[in-house]
Amino acid sequence: MPVKDVFELLRSTGALKTGHFLLSSGRHSDVYVEKFDLLRQPVATSEVCTGFVERFRDERIDVVVGPTTGGILLAFETARQMNIAAAYAERADSGTGRELRRGTVLPSGARVLVVDDILTTGGSVRETLDALAKHLVEVVGIGVLVDRSAGKVQFGDIPLHALGAQVVESWAADECPLCAKGEPLVKPGTTVL
Ligand SMILES: [Zn+2]
Repeated sequence: MPVKDVFELLRSTGALKTGHFLLSSGRHSDVYVEKFDLLRQPVATSEVCTGFVERFRDERIDVVVGPTTGGILLAFETARQMNIAAAYAERADSGTGRELRRGTVLPSGARVLVVDDILTTGGSVRETLDALAKHLVEVVGIGVLVDRSAGKVQFGDIPLHALGAQVVESWAADECPLCAKGEPLVKPGTTVL
């Protein structure tokens, strides 16, 4: 199946936005991605997952695992296309880290693909890998929609495949050209790109 460009899908679903945004870091930017504008569209979400399927089709994946919340939707659909099982890394009861809850059993020796949406610091993927380390499985790949770490975030020798990479310019408030132009500042609801 042909793989559509992830940025085209983000654009066509309205997830890729331009304007004047306050990032969670406190810096200002002219671009951000509301990933849920994409994830609320099953057909477009399915099309991005085809990118993961194509990249990892020769890796004999047994289970696709994703972290809450976006990663769960991507893991479910990627696993559906691969005709295998999915599993979900949810917040742990302790409040720190993640775990595979609700009686999840992974077959011993299973080859696992981890998927997630926007890679920023890599925290949710790392927590998913930590959760999987308690199971007798082998993580053979990691797939993300967009790597906004500029390739800085890596996970040891586990191959990381980003469907798209984007480095977004940002400015401190007192150096922001959009502030200088008097453009109103918007604080986005969730993940800022
Ligand atoms: Zn600004």
